[in-house]
Amino acid sequence: MSTTTAAVPTVKLFIDGKPVESTSSEWREVINPATQEVLARVPFATAAEVDRAVASAKAAFKTWKKTPIGTRARIFLKYQQLIRENMKELAAILTAEQGKTLPDAEGDVFRGLEVVEHAAGIGNLQLGELANNVASGVDTFTLLQPLGVCAGITPFNFPAMIPLWMFPMAIATGNTFVLKPSEQDPMVTMRLVELAHEAGIPPGVLNVVHGGPDVVNAICDHPDIKAVSFVGSTRVGTHVYNRASQAGKRVQCMMGAKNHAIVLPDANKEQSLNAIAGAAFGAAGQRCMALSVVILVGEANDWLPELVEKAKTLKVSGGSEPGTDVGPLVSCAALDRVSGLIERGIQEGASLALDGRNPQIAGYAKGNFVAPTIFAGVTAQMTIYREEIFGPVLCVMHAKTMDEAIEIINANPNGNGTALFTRSGAAARHFKEEIDVGQVGINVPIPVPVPMFSFTGSRGSKLGDLGPYGKQVVQFYTQTKTVTERWFDENEVGGAVNTTIHLK
Ligand code: NAD
Repeated sequence: MSTTTAAVPTVKLFIDGKPVESTSSEWREVINPATQEVLARVPFATAAEVDRAVASAKAAFKTWKKTPIGTRARIFLKYQQLIRENMKELAAILTAEQGKTLPDAEGDVFRGLEVVEHAAGIGNLQLGELANNVASGVDTFTLLQPLGVCAGITPFNFPAMIPLWMFPMAIATGNTFVLKPSEQDPMVTMRLVELAHEAGIPPGVLNVVHGGPDVVNAICDHPDIKAVSFVGSTRVGTHVYNRASQAGKRVQCMMGAKNHAIVLPDANKEQSLNAIAGAAFGAAGQRCMALSVVILVGEANDWLPELVEKAKTLKVSGGSEPGTDVGPLVSCAALDRVSGLIERGIQEGASLALDGRNPQIAGYAKGNFVAPTIFAGVTAQMTIYREEIFGPVLCVMHAKTMDEAIEIINANPNGNGTALFTRSGAAARHFKEEIDVGQVGINVPIPVPVPMFSFTGSRGSKLGDLGPYGKQVVQFYTQTKTVTERWFDENEVGGAVNTTIHLK
């Protein structure tokens, strides 16, 4: 917890359309991971502050749910424009507090912006169904009605994109929202919340509370919150899913991963190795869709030295330095964890083909840096294979055939993403059919779907049926009400009493 002086700015809560200084006695520092500079202090909101945020959202729901769909859509049209106009500023805040490179920070904002654009098209998304004449004079149709107050809990690794996965679609469908950003990097999220209000989100429709486990538990338990979206680790996501479900809420949790790529010997070597190095080491491996395992099939095993050479060419430095490929890890704790896992890999017998520990980075002596690291000869029993490392560490395995590689992937408990590199359409088709992972790339290393689709991680990487954004999230944030109606013709002669279940 913080020992900082009052000169450091404080991150505000956001309640009832206004920034609010927390009265909490518990604070933590937001730290630049490349320099250890303290950027701000963030409060762990009190129980009363969480209640205030939820009460504000509950009151705002009464009018927001009746706001015409076109009015809601136009706010998001304006919002996407404001995000574009402020892109450079947003990326700079993000890089300072999270560490990723400036171009990657713009990518983080951009992938969220795409969801905002999608929310602006809500008129074509929140559509019910109608069947005419289901019995004589009877029509049946569905209404997709908002649920009420929804809440979002987000991780540190995409502090722009993941909040934008959540509140725009929840609000566009007529709900109000309470957001709990990551306490490690809440500043870009807060700037996005300010811009949302500048775009016309009315007071109370979008509120923000900061904090850790206590605030998350309060959200899970709160009787006035109807649905919870969570993105983060498997351990916390499982807890949130169980606790919020027990409290009767609708819950969706996107969680940890171990994403494998298979490389067949017929693949385009240059393009495949470039794609793999980018997806393994970009954002310092801190992406839930990072490729953290590569299975080289048959003679593709001989490509390991070239993969190592490519990884060596990546520039490791502060995220705001031009030309940087790999920035720092988010925190000193993350650095210790990743370094410990590399140590463990060596102890358990994996062969360290590229050692990225303790790189000396000019001008950034205090940064949390690990350079690209590659282990060869990795087996499914090793800790570096079983755990999500969430750092720039790639595990390389070998398989004799594609089917053997598919078996390895299907035996892994996670199911976020996977990729196949090949020139063979037949191999690609076989892979798509047999692989038990929710998001599949063919010669695409990070197959995160654009927002007209939904994010469809599966198995151990997800709890709940419906994913973020796209059509699935419209279902998640609405209750389907089915209406069956008959209008009597004034001239119709009333028949006899009918006691059967059948409508005629
Ligand atoms: P995290 O689980 O530590 O934190 C996520 C959120 O939960 C934060 O807001 C945090 O404050 C809160 N939290 C932390 N500990 C808690 C506890 N004990 N009780 C209640 N709440 C708690 O995750 P992180 O380290 O911020 O993010 C990295 C993880 O997120 C990785 O596992 C990554 O794979 C995952 N992730 C998944 C996806 C996906 O779509 N599947 C996307 C991004 C990140």
